[in-house]
Parts: sequence; C-alpha cells; structure tokens
Amino acid sequence: MGKKKLQPPEPPFTIQEYEKSPYWRNKSKNILDKKDIECEICHRKRWKWLPRAKKWKRALRFSCHHTSYINVPNEKPEDMMILCYLCHSTSHLILRVRQISEMFERMAKIVEEYFTYDKDSYKGK
Ligand SMILES: [Zn+2]
Ligand SMILES: [Zn+2]
Repeated sequence: MGKKKLQPPEPPFTIQEYEKSPYWRNKSKNILDKKDIECEICHRKRWKWLPRAKKWKRALRFSCHHTSYINVPNEKPEDMMILCYLCHSTSHLILRVRQISEMFERMAKIVEEYFTYDKDSYKGK
C-alpha cells in the first residue's frame, strides 16, 4: 500500500511544536500500539487480551516521554521512555516540586540576607 509518510515539521521548531505535530503523534502512537509494551517504571502493561472477545483492550493510558531531544526527529529507542500516564505525570510532578523547592532555597538565602532587620534600630521610637 502506498501509504503517505508523515513528515516532521520544518525546522526550526520548538519541542512543543514538535510534540504536537502529526509526525510525532503518529510515531509515538505506533510505538504505543505495540501489544507487548509495559511501563518502564511500574511495569504495568498497556494492553490486555480479552480471550472471549478475541481482541486487545487498552488497559491504561500511556505516553512516550523524551529522555533526550538530541536526535529529534530521528529518535533512537534510548531517547524515549514508555510510561503509563500515572508514572509519567508523577515523574513530571517530582521534577516540578524539586524546581519549586530549589527556588525556595534561593529565596530563603535572599530573605536571610535582606529581610532580617536590626531590631535595635527601632529602640526609642
Ligand atoms: Zn507506570
Ligand atoms: Zn514526559
């Protein structure tokens, strides 16, 4: 069959543009449609075989996470991680929380330096 191959977006493109492109959507869909895949963190399987209905049922929502964008749009298998939605969103949340706590650490240093006024200067006022 002469199925038309989807082309990656024209460079320069942002990661957000790339991940929204039909090219990446199709590429990741093909990866996630493989019936033997499992989450690389929790090892739950995406697909479940229903013997009576003789068909595959999608048991969980999955996504393809980029571990590296170096080879985009020609990702190597090691540039991607297959994750269930729970592990994927939790992983991004951990990263976000860490960034927030690092920002708090930086702010705390500024507060310690500039926000601790000398109480003695208020004497007699
Ligand atoms: Zn998982
Ligand atoms: Zn991700």
